[in-house]
Amino acid sequence: MTLSQVANVEQVKQVNSALVYRLINEQGPLSRVRLAELSALAPASITKLSRQLLEAGLIRELEESTPTGGRPAIALACQDETLGLVAGRLGRDRLQLSLYNLKGEELANQQWPVSVTEQQAVMDQLLQTLGDFIAQYGQRLQRLIAVGLTMPGLIDPQQGMVFYMPRYQLRELALGPWLAERLGLPVYLGNDTRAHALAEHLIGAAQGCHDAILVSVHQGTGAGILSNGRIFLGKNSNVGEIGHIQVEPFGQRCHCGNFGCLETIVANPAILGRTAQLLAQGHPSQLAADNLTIEALCQAAQAGDPLARHVLEHAAEQLGRTLAIMVNLFNPQKLLLAGEIMQCRDILWPVLQRCIDQQSLPSFHQDLPIELARFQHAGTIGGYALIKRALYESDLLQRLMTPSVTE
Ligand SMILES: [Zn+2]
Repeated sequence: MTLSQVANVEQVKQVNSALVYRLINEQGPLSRVRLAELSALAPASITKLSRQLLEAGLIRELEESTPTGGRPAIALACQDETLGLVAGRLGRDRLQLSLYNLKGEELANQQWPVSVTEQQAVMDQLLQTLGDFIAQYGQRLQRLIAVGLTMPGLIDPQQGMVFYMPRYQLRELALGPWLAERLGLPVYLGNDTRAHALAEHLIGAAQGCHDAILVSVHQGTGAGILSNGRIFLGKNSNVGEIGHIQVEPFGQRCHCGNFGCLETIVANPAILGRTAQLLAQGHPSQLAADNLTIEALCQAAQAGDPLARHVLEHAAEQLGRTLAIMVNLFNPQKLLLAGEIMQCRDILWPVLQRCIDQQSLPSFHQDLPIELARFQHAGTIGGYALIKRALYESDLLQRLMTPSVTE
């Protein structure tokens, strides 16, 4: 065989083991016979692949009693309660870390303020905190397989590179490889909204969907686009920066330098800023200017406060305009929304629905559900999703199946 043929055989083996692992994970426990049917692989291949997965401790055998009382059938299930990972989110002012088992159950979590912004100082704090967290909680699991870290920046998940992060001076930084070398674990990096969309696809409200869009409104506004079962990534591995679509040419100045970006109207700080401005002008409202929160705003709106309702409906109008653009561009099966303002669903949804109905193609918005995302405060779940994807699609499963010489 030529070198390229050897490489192809190796690749096919990897794809097949990932397929078998995913089937057991998503539909297990499964018998080897059923696995062969579902995967369309030969029974001999299933025998071999399942033996390798068993040897690596990634799956286990279960004895299932048969109704006829005959020889018990053996089914294969994932070893997902004893294996796990550390998932983290580096936000604009804090670091959250969680310990998950592979099932997605959160076993521990902690958060710390991050006051440093200089590149090396941020890297040092991350490494120190991750190391301490793993030392403190790691033994709750039999084995830690990886670390998944998300952040609201421009990230290249393939290379583990951070190109840009709001607030921190992280630029063109190979953070993933740097952390992996020091922690002795594979490290996967991703943008937090895109990783959140992946979590919705793998274990949330977009399960079973191949095309869906998640829009998340928190400190900023962003989107994760699931296209043909994968998170859509453009040049530089980043898309979905809908916060910087201009919706009001003569609007407020945005931190990106442009005027009237969506984020200057639809993001928590913008919504609260607009409310404070109207209150300062003397518009009547039950809201108190000195204690403005999204929670208080939503409660006032639900209670019929006209000012609170106006602010939310105005935001929904601009968000709806942007959603309609996305529906026209991507023709999704489902729209998912996340963020604190979504608790006012009965105020926001009719406005969003009207915008989408008026501004997108009828065949695109007919039967298009707008739903709440399962994870409203995404936190660290995106980091969990990055590891899950790495098991299904990339080299992580292979690395676990062939213990490296350094281990
Ligand atoms: Zn902008």
